[in-house]
Amino acid sequence: KEELNIIQGALELRTKTVENVMTPLSNCFMIHIDTVLDFNTMSEIMESGYTRIPVYDTELSNIVDVLYVKDLAFVDPDDCTTLKTVTKFYNHPVHFVFHDTKLDAMLEEFKKGKSHLAIVQKVNNEGEGDPFYEVLGLVTLEDVIEEIIKSEILDE
Ligand code: ADP
Repeated sequence: KEELNIIQGALELRTKTVENVMTPLSNCFMIHIDTVLDFNTMSEIMESGYTRIPVYDTELSNIVDVLYVKDLAFVDPDDCTTLKTVTKFYNHPVHFVFHDTKLDAMLEEFKKGKSHLAIVQKVNNEGEGDPFYEVLGLVTLEDVIEEIIKSEILDE
């Protein structure tokens, strides 16, 4: 029974898209690039429980960086360092994917190992103005694996 589920999950990787399994933007825990890393913000980041946090500038849909919680290891909250200083230092690339990327292709991307988190975007050409990239959410390796094993992975 379990095995059958997994096989079915694996077969569906070819038809399902990242948009089907992503965490929508409205549920993403993100942080503004100009944030000062004082005790309060650092506690908030720790309490969020996430390992990677998209960093935005001006508006939530403008993602410019990703903070890894381990980047904070050498930050002293009393120094009131800005997040910008930290992200500039580590300079992690932001990995973008299109919303219609199939999960098998996404899994291959993740297996290449650059990053196990990607920002999901689409080209929005509705309305009057020029087409623009719209951020829809984020997807991680865990979201893809959950789709294969068809059950929620509980975080410790
Ligand atoms: P983590 O290591 O931070 O727990 P995982 O890669 O294990 O992240 O993903 C667990 C779930 O949390 C996935 O559904 C993923 O989409 C979601 N997730 C990861 N990072 C964030 C974030 N910054 N804000 C909201 N959801 C997130």
